[in-house]
Amino acid sequence: MSRTFRVLILGGTGEGTALAAALVDVPGIEAISSLAGRVAAPRLPPGHVRIGGFGGVDGLTAYVKAERIDAVVDATHPFAARISANAANACAQTGIPLAAFVRTPWTREAGDDWYDVPDMRAAAACVRSFGTRVFLTVGRSQLAEFAELSEPWFLIRAIEAPPGPLPRRHEVLLRRPPFTLAEEVELMRSRAIDLLVAKNSGGDATSAKLAAARELGIAVVMVQRPARPSAHPVDSLVGTIAWIEGVRGGAKDFAPVRRQNRSCR
Ligand code: NAP
Repeated sequence: MSRTFRVLILGGTGEGTALAAALVDVPGIEAISSLAGRVAAPRLPPGHVRIGGFGGVDGLTAYVKAERIDAVVDATHPFAARISANAANACAQTGIPLAAFVRTPWTREAGDDWYDVPDMRAAAACVRSFGTRVFLTVGRSQLAEFAELSEPWFLIRAIEAPPGPLPRRHEVLLRRPPFTLAEEVELMRSRAIDLLVAKNSGGDATSAKLAAARELGIAVVMVQRPARPSAHPVDSLVGTIAWIEGVRGGAKDFAPVRRQNRSCR
């Protein structure tokens, strides 16, 4: 009798949720979405979900063995470097195929005034040099890099309240993406923003801020992505499903995947 093909999705992103939604009704496949548990009220992907860290490489290795995982898709955020490294190590140790479903980075367009920096510390150095009214859209975990900057005023946007420390002069705005261009233009105008700080996350949900900065002539400090460990790279839902099909096809006794009628990227 054929066994269910078990896919572990390392998620916490729109890509992870879309993949879980695409696989949930596929006969012969069981997807398990894993979330870190950072957000108090996360939007749960459909299907089976587990929440919380695994306990490093050893914990993840033990998990994939105990759960008889057949393939892992690392659909975590491009800046979630530690879990990606752990996944690469655990899969190398166990021989389980690993794909990295990573959204394409944003690239400059005509009219953009971007300053590429390698990390958050360098972004803070840029702000010190030429920011006066700064829009920080870098999440909440690395805001301490900006805490010593007492001169600029900051608009800090995050999904949940930042834990601090925070710069002296600031306003915190708790909002969940997506954001429209009109909303971003209005927000930046209303706060007289003159510098935007962003991570090069890619994707559509938060890209309107870049179009708004372009429209308003606002400079952008763009934090580049950390290096990723090796994994089979995929940049679309269709490509990820094709990879899963390929891996599953390589194993014996599995029924063919019936493609569901769902939107793909
Ligand atoms: P990270 O620094 O790479 O990971 C730190 C630790 O959190 C990992 O070692 C692991 O703990 C645990 N972890 C992370 N992702 C996990 C997952 N999907 N399932 C189970 N455990 C996970 O990650 P991060 O930057 O804190 O991001 C945490 C989560 O938020 C990720 O799932 C990511 O996709 C999502 N996210 C991150 C960002 C960002 O800008 N970094 C933005 C949007 C969403 P153990 O070692 O104990 O296993």
